[in-house]
Amino acid sequence: MKDILIVGAGISGATIANKLANAGKQVLVIDEKNHIAGNCYDKREDGIMVHQYGAHIFHTSIKEVYDFLSQFTTFTDYQHQVKAVIQGKEVPVPFNFNSIDILFDKNRAHELKDKLLSHYNLDSKVPILELQNAEDKDLQFLAEFVYENLFLHYTLKQWGLRPDELDKSVSGRVPVYIGTDDRYFPWDAYQGIPSQGYTKMIENILNHENIEIQLNTKFCNLNSDDYEHIFYAGTIDGFFDYKLGELPYRSERFENQTITKNYFQSNSVINYPNEHEYTRIIEHKYFLNDKTDKTIISYEYPEAYELGKNDPYYPIIKEETTKLYQAYLEQTKYLPYITFIGRLGDYKYYDMDKAVNRALEVFNLYQSQ
Ligand SMILES: Cc1cc2nc3c(=O)[nH]c(=O)nc-3n(C[C@H](O)[C@H](O)[C@H](O)COP(=O)(O)OP(=O)(O)OC[C@H]3O[C@@H](n4cnc5c(N)ncnc54)[C@H](O)[C@@H]3O)c2cc1C
Repeated sequence: MKDILIVGAGISGATIANKLANAGKQVLVIDEKNHIAGNCYDKREDGIMVHQYGAHIFHTSIKEVYDFLSQFTTFTDYQHQVKAVIQGKEVPVPFNFNSIDILFDKNRAHELKDKLLSHYNLDSKVPILELQNAEDKDLQFLAEFVYENLFLHYTLKQWGLRPDELDKSVSGRVPVYIGTDDRYFPWDAYQGIPSQGYTKMIENILNHENIEIQLNTKFCNLNSDDYEHIFYAGTIDGFFDYKLGELPYRSERFENQTITKNYFQSNSVINYPNEHEYTRIIEHKYFLNDKTDKTIISYEYPEAYELGKNDPYYPIIKEETTKLYQAYLEQTKYLPYITFIGRLGDYKYYDMDKAVNRALEVFNLYQSQ
């Protein structure tokens, strides 16, 4: 008999399992997949650490999260940069002063940078939808340029929606950066990749005498009455058997290729906002600087999520889906022995650090009750 059941051996489930085990609880962690680590799952192939569910870069400003994870891994320094192919040229993303220099002639680039600096602080980030509302003609020009070349078609491919149909929490993730720093997350104090990979890090988090793990085990096959409390990191609509309707998600298809050459492209991630059906190409060996004479790349094709066919990755957050999520949340009032956690349980776009942070908060709340 266990005290606690945790559904989902991803980073959310593992975090809360570890905290509860340290507090003396006997914990069973189940996952329907045949591996731990959820979407963070990585494994070595041909000497290269391959992120099996798309590029995962750890970055955070939350010291507690960094300190918690640092007990289970060291981090290899990695400052993420993304490039996008625009008009045949590779430019830094978020779009910044270097992108302007690459795409415009010297005088025009100078004009545009001066204009940005007269309206915004150096090293600030301006959401593209905000820049579009600027009154200045040059800023409007730049906003339209970035919107058309970087944002619109990428968003249509990534989400199957126009940017104005998405919640601001999603569209706001695409800023113009006022400065020359090419890093993707310049504002996060802690960045890196777990030195032995995410799977190893999560294996270490779960490695506790009070924790038992059962893979290939779906929640519906277990009796929930056997536990003092359940933490559930699966889909909240799935838990309720979709009785109020399905919450929509975006999924992805990854096509991997192994190539016998040192490097395929100039950067770990190159976005293709306008050409091709795929949104980006990932070259995995960059993350841990793996030294091999081969390379492995992944083409990422966004696609609609279909229950039973592919995996739910990104919650599609819009007004009506938020309402449906709230309606499901309302149902949880009648189930005080269950807490929903993680990207799927909370129906939120959590990066890894936010997922860990939320799991730590949930644990503290549970302990204080
Ligand atoms: C393509 C992609 C790229 C990403 N890139 C980044 C990045 O660069 N940086 C970053 O910080 N974050 C990134 N993320 C987000 C990151 O993957 C999540 O923050 C993290 O995986 C959330 O962990 P979780 O445990 O909440 O959910 P998950 O990792 O989804 O884990 C949930 C687990 O629950 C299991 N499960 C679900 N239902 C059941 C059930 N009924 N019975 C049993 N088991 C069940 C699932 O099999 C899964 O293993 C990315 C996500 C995606 C999809």
